[in-house]
Amino acid sequence: MDFDSDYRLTIGGALRAASKTFSVINPATGRAFAEAPDASRSDLDDAVAAARSAFAGWASTPHKERAELVTKLADQVEAEADPFSRLLTAEQGKPQSEAKREVLGLVAWLKAAASWDIPVHIHEDSEDRYCETRHVPIGVVGAIAPWNYPLLLAAFKLGPALTTGNCVVLKPSPFTPLSTLRLGELANSLLPSGVLNVLSGGDDLGPWLTSHPGIDKVAFTGSTATGKRVMASAAETLKRITLELGGNDPSIVMHDVDPVALAPKLFWASFGNSGQVCLASKRVYVHADIYSEVRDALVQFASGVKIGNGINEGMQLGPINNRVQYERIMRLIEESKAQDLNFALGGEVPECEGYFIPPIIIDNPPEDARIVCEEQFGPIVPLIWFEDYNDAIRRANASEYGLGATIWAGDENAGWALAQRIDAGNVWVNESRPLSPVVPFAGHKQSGFGVENGLEGLLEYTIPKTMSRRRSLSD
Ligand code: NAD
Repeated sequence: MDFDSDYRLTIGGALRAASKTFSVINPATGRAFAEAPDASRSDLDDAVAAARSAFAGWASTPHKERAELVTKLADQVEAEADPFSRLLTAEQGKPQSEAKREVLGLVAWLKAAASWDIPVHIHEDSEDRYCETRHVPIGVVGAIAPWNYPLLLAAFKLGPALTTGNCVVLKPSPFTPLSTLRLGELANSLLPSGVLNVLSGGDDLGPWLTSHPGIDKVAFTGSTATGKRVMASAAETLKRITLELGGNDPSIVMHDVDPVALAPKLFWASFGNSGQVCLASKRVYVHADIYSEVRDALVQFASGVKIGNGINEGMQLGPINNRVQYERIMRLIEESKAQDLNFALGGEVPECEGYFIPPIIIDNPPEDARIVCEEQFGPIVPLIWFEDYNDAIRRANASEYGLGATIWAGDENAGWALAQRIDAGNVWVNESRPLSPVVPFAGHKQSGFGVENGLEGLLEYTIPKTMSRRRSLSD
């Protein structure tokens, strides 16, 4: 895979250049390294038309055949995992090891989706009557991914959508379009024309897609603010929707945790992918008995982490993905300084090429500081002191979000009991983000609508169809 080669849209089984392009920036250098096609409204119309005309054939292809083709696509990506990872690092910024993990995640997610049987529920099979419910595909899915995990979050949607018989128009973020466009190219040689279409474009493309009358379902991952726009736009033609949105996940560190053993786990829970993870621990409540020991151990661990251009061997953290997000985090830093918050680590961002911000730990800010009550989505994390578990739970739950949470506990049963009281879709004790394609993943409150992954996630790409028959007209 050659970075400066042409990147094309995939529409109806063919590669197409758009009439305009936009530059893709390498966040480690701040410089453009490739041009991506900027799809027009008529490119989108063509992609939706291609998907609609492919739908009848794909939906009636036996499930086993569809699953085999999706597995072949996964095998093909696996065979090209190294060039895919390099391209992902160049456009996203994450270190090579993390990029490879993401590419292999895509492979695992596609394969897992292909391994499910689509259940058929037989309600009655008597002498007089037969009644069943099948799960049939919905039609054409508009799939929209963010820039933090472009390939993995596309795979969350593609695997179940395609294996259940839907056709897809996939749109990556304009900050990270290239690896997804390559995925479209690969799929062209394997899937029937029009089954998977991939379009990159500017800020208009998402709203065009979610309001397009030829789209039957929107599967979206991104911020809560955008998710609300997607929901409103989908209402016009009553499209089905799945929304995976923002989070402000709490961690609670209980009084009996070993601070030194905790430090690396807590660090990666909060700062992995430079904090640009929906399920990162974004505010950390630490029991007063061990607060200073935890803070000092975390600062010590964080100080040794290697940050730099992810393409270089041994880097553990890369840059912020894009200038808009970099400037948001810089404003948060300035505001935290203006409020006289205590910086236990970092805060001085070195002048350099690229969007690098070394890890920042804020020491016990007030609960109403923006760094505590808003999703930061970057490498700046507050540690907050508490004495009483009821108070910690109240503060942890006092958020419009309900995506994830972690309890760190010496006594796993006490941790488990505390976990029951957290209002979030994903709650873990002594581990962070153990995501799996077979385990349902859903956001509570304003963190989402619907489910991804697991059988529940698969069935979101289907609609129940119930049929019954009487064996004769005689009674
Ligand atoms: P974003 O909402 O700005 O953009 C997400 C995608 O939506 C991009 O492809 C973008 O081009 C597109 N888009 C923008 N406006 C649109 C519109 N009006 N209609 C349709 N599409 C539109 O989010 P982002 O900045 O790319 O990602 C960061 C956010 O995503 C964070 O809030 C993070 O928590 C969230 N996120 C959630 C999950 C999850 O699974 N819950 C996973 C990753 C990221």
